[in-house]
Amino acid sequence: MNEFSGNKSVAGRFFGNMKDVPLTDIKGIGPKRAEQFRQFGVCSARSLLDRLPRGYLDYSSVTPVCALADGENAAVQVRIASAPKYFRKGGMSVVSVSAQDETGSVTLKWFNQPYRCARLKAGETIFACGRVSRKRNVSLTNPAITDALPGILPVYTTIKGLSQRVWRDAQLSVLETLWDDIDETLPATVRERYRLAPLALALRHAHFPISADALQLARTRLDFENALLYFLAVEEQKSERTRQNGFAFDTDGVFERYCAKLSYALTNAQKRVMGEIAEDMAKNIPMNRLLQGDVGSGKTAVALYALCVASANGKQGALLAPTEILAEQHYQNLRKIFGDAAVLLTGGMKKKQRDAALRRIADGTALCVTGTHALLSGGVRFYDLGCVVTDEQHRFGVRQRAALLEKGARPDILVMSATPIPRTLALIVYGDLDISIIDEMPPGRKPVKTSVIPAGRRADMYAYLAGQAKDGVQSYVVCPLIEDSENIECPSVKTLYAELKKTMPGTKIGMLHGQMREDEKTRVMQAFRAGETGILVSTTVVEVGVHVPNACNMVIEGAERFGLSQLHQLRGRVGRSAEQAYCFLLYGTKSKEENERIQTFTKTNDGFEIAQKDLLLRGPGDFIGVRQHGESGIAALAGAMDMRLLEQAGRAAREIAASPSDDSARMIELANERFESLNGIAMN
Ligand code: ADP
Ligand code: MG
Repeated sequence: MNEFSGNKSVAGRFFGNMKDVPLTDIKGIGPKRAEQFRQFGVCSARSLLDRLPRGYLDYSSVTPVCALADGENAAVQVRIASAPKYFRKGGMSVVSVSAQDETGSVTLKWFNQPYRCARLKAGETIFACGRVSRKRNVSLTNPAITDALPGILPVYTTIKGLSQRVWRDAQLSVLETLWDDIDETLPATVRERYRLAPLALALRHAHFPISADALQLARTRLDFENALLYFLAVEEQKSERTRQNGFAFDTDGVFERYCAKLSYALTNAQKRVMGEIAEDMAKNIPMNRLLQGDVGSGKTAVALYALCVASANGKQGALLAPTEILAEQHYQNLRKIFGDAAVLLTGGMKKKQRDAALRRIADGTALCVTGTHALLSGGVRFYDLGCVVTDEQHRFGVRQRAALLEKGARPDILVMSATPIPRTLALIVYGDLDISIIDEMPPGRKPVKTSVIPAGRRADMYAYLAGQAKDGVQSYVVCPLIEDSENIECPSVKTLYAELKKTMPGTKIGMLHGQMREDEKTRVMQAFRAGETGILVSTTVVEVGVHVPNACNMVIEGAERFGLSQLHQLRGRVGRSAEQAYCFLLYGTKSKEENERIQTFTKTNDGFEIAQKDLLLRGPGDFIGVRQHGESGIAALAGAMDMRLLEQAGRAAREIAASPSDDSARMIELANERFESLNGIAMN
């Protein structure tokens, strides 16, 4: 039948204080094998059991020969039709024999296993399990021959010298040896309530499932445990933070003074969210809040308010940006509010300017500092940092907070998220943050009109952009790749840039991508912002936050290569003025699913709805996936793709955290051990 994928992600340790033994104590493992396993990072019986299969081969039922599909693994029950043939081919010995069932004939073939010859007798009925090839005729390559069906076999990630057979035998021995010592990690109440298998049984069936159902139960149980412990660690971190002393800001009158500096009236959603932030900042517990809002909903305006609260209390604020382009853009905004007390710090600055900036950050005359995340690196000393606003790629884990503490700062932290995700999932992914949502757009915005451009109209569309440029309306063109790639048909930034330059000599065209030097990028972006460039060909570097109201067209080449939420981000670069804006999608795929996905996108401008659709289509893995940063605790959850499971595990965790007992203390300890660092980014 088919191969189903295993549990790649669960790398946790499914044990409490369980007894452990050296590998050499396991039957069938001698010093030599133990050493091989050790080189693979497996040092004890327990740690071997931790290595769950990366997949499974389903040999639990017989497939009729006529139904064998190319490339799949299958078990057949066949009669050997003739004596085996033995020959040499390309330096290899080959044993080949013809076999059949009622539905057809299949060739069984082994490479470099000459001993097979003697064991294959014409007329005998056997089970053969292996990979199907239908190249010329139907064959199984290197099949295993058995008297009975082997059932579902685990497949492990392994290294040379450790065969799957060695792995399976070793795992089986370990299970036998440790069986009576596998301590249950989950309290009985939790297991009963969520109908979870006992740990020992789950481990057994995760390695050697007796059926697909048993495997499902096993994986659910292990995923649940992992998710539960993750959420417990999150709860712990949250309560740890609330025990810290932060600065209680005086917010009196700041809002009114801030509003007076704005050229527009805030939306109700913005006001509400500012209220939530003010409340946080007034407390003596450090704020750790996530600000969610669709593209263009005015998050930055809200974030600036937090920085104003800090400066009104004589403390410094930092606004961190993912790119220097954005830092530059933020700086323009900050100047309007903080005047000379706003300072920009970028890597591209000349030494003299940079030193001056550093001096002002250190002596406190810089009240509001913006730059890339390098701002929080070792070399930069703040006089008194009170508030940090950053983007979601840079959440602060325990260690990052510790690093800030070492600088003597216990700042309030506001994380801005440009990717709206469904509330249920947000609670899961951002469990350690409080969440504010801006669910309203500033008035007067016209939704961007989105359409798919068929290949035949591509040239017309570019001609239209050239005409627009003549009329002073600017356009973005986004390509998935910087340079052409053999296997990808869509034009790259460099190719398209060259092509457009050639075909539209009258139009000024710019190019922007991640391989360019920072100062070059800034220069190109400034030219575009100033309206000197008509068309900007770029990679997704324009995705985050760039604000050029005069740009009204967004072309996305190779649209199928982007997630819906990412497409939405890109589209959000236009429609930033009262003019009608357009988004044109070009793509090559003919797949029905792809078409549907992109059709969905053309029909709505609501980021939350799009995110919900992405979630439905692709599961939470993508959302969690994009937030992985190496050692992220969340990475361990990527396998737990089932929303309901995540929700239940979250609920169980909150219940356990809220009712202290021996059980909960034990679980929390386990959680902290397994998820030492939550969403850790390196922030030296
Ligand atoms: P986001 O960061 O959420 O994508 P921005 O904060 O960059 O959005 O805001 C986009 C644009 O809308 C900016 O030019 C900003 O000045 C403007 N803006 C923000 N809030 C309002 C509002 N309440 N009314 C009108 N314009 C607004
Ligand atoms: Mg923004």
